[in-house]
Amino acid sequence: MYENTKADLLSMKSDELEKFVVSLGHPRYRAKQIWQWMYRAKDFSEMSNLPEKMRSELSEAAVINVPEIEKKLVSAADGTVKYLFRLKDGNLIESVLMRYRYGLSLCVSSQCGCRMGCRFCASTLDGLIRNLMPSEILGQLIAAQTDSGERVSHIVLMGIGEPLDNYDNVIRFIRLASSPDGLGISCRNISLSTCGVVPNILRLAEEGLPVTLSVSLHASDDVARSDLMPVNRAWGIDALLAACALYFKKTGRRISFEYTLIANKNDSREEADRLSRLLKKYFKSGVHVNIIPLNPVKEREYRTVDRRCAARFSEFLQKNSINATVRRTLGPDINASCGQLRRSH
Ligand code: SAH
Repeated sequence: MYENTKADLLSMKSDELEKFVVSLGHPRYRAKQIWQWMYRAKDFSEMSNLPEKMRSELSEAAVINVPEIEKKLVSAADGTVKYLFRLKDGNLIESVLMRYRYGLSLCVSSQCGCRMGCRFCASTLDGLIRNLMPSEILGQLIAAQTDSGERVSHIVLMGIGEPLDNYDNVIRFIRLASSPDGLGISCRNISLSTCGVVPNILRLAEEGLPVTLSVSLHASDDVARSDLMPVNRAWGIDALLAACALYFKKTGRRISFEYTLIANKNDSREEADRLSRLLKKYFKSGVHVNIIPLNPVKEREYRTVDRRCAARFSEFLQKNSINATVRRTLGPDINASCGQLRRSH
């Protein structure tokens, strides 16, 4: 059984790990050795340059939360890898490793389940089980890098969960992932996707972490958006876009809006025009719309659109001078969208 009373070493910053090691009566340099091992996914028993007694003492007092690979699917089409990971307490989460020309990008989960209730999404069907610790988010990267033998250069917080509903742990994760003695991944290569938890978008703007903010918009009026995304009843479109404009102003980082296209729901010309007017009201420039054809979830009634319809919607936006692209589908043969593997397991 996993006891969460144990010290969570992979959630620690290097000076915190030093303090911990010293508190157990060991010299400071041992912390550096442990640090190097854990970032290579090794557990205490494998830390061959530590004395035997120290290793057993550590495994009594502490835990390294790198998840185990429960299942791994590799796309024959494009090499995308989908991992189903098992956490120390037995809960399951997913990550997706994608190959781009510029490097490897890992899509990580931030919570086990989700309580946001978006009606087209598989991750929220059973609600939130628990937040992930910083170590458990970082552990997904360490596990994927160790398994692939390659460095991951980009992170997208777009897996299971709402990152801004697990704010403190996600911020600590970003600091560890971007720190030179951690994974050394520049904040500019980290994207955080949110359904629109407005107060935490405002907090994020003050953190001094220039991550790319992706906002799941999916509708251009409050009635339609509240119907698709319950979070909109707490913070409506105007509050959301005002927060995004502020984020852009504070960080200088271009905002990316995700727009999931659902047949006969939000795919019309009028909708594209209304969306364009809305975005122009808040941004003179610096927005990008990422169009995602709906990935149908069998528990939900919504239908997807074909490529032609998605391309047309993109053209409508571009005619209105809104920068838009249709997201390329990676791993079509392994059901790479999040939440679906965990559910079927
Ligand atoms: N909670 C965050 C990140 C997780 S989901 C958020 O809401 O942004 C990443 C993106 O996939 C979001 O834009 C989400 O709305 C979208 N998404 C979820 N289920 C989907 C589905 N079945 N088809 C297409 N996009 C989906």
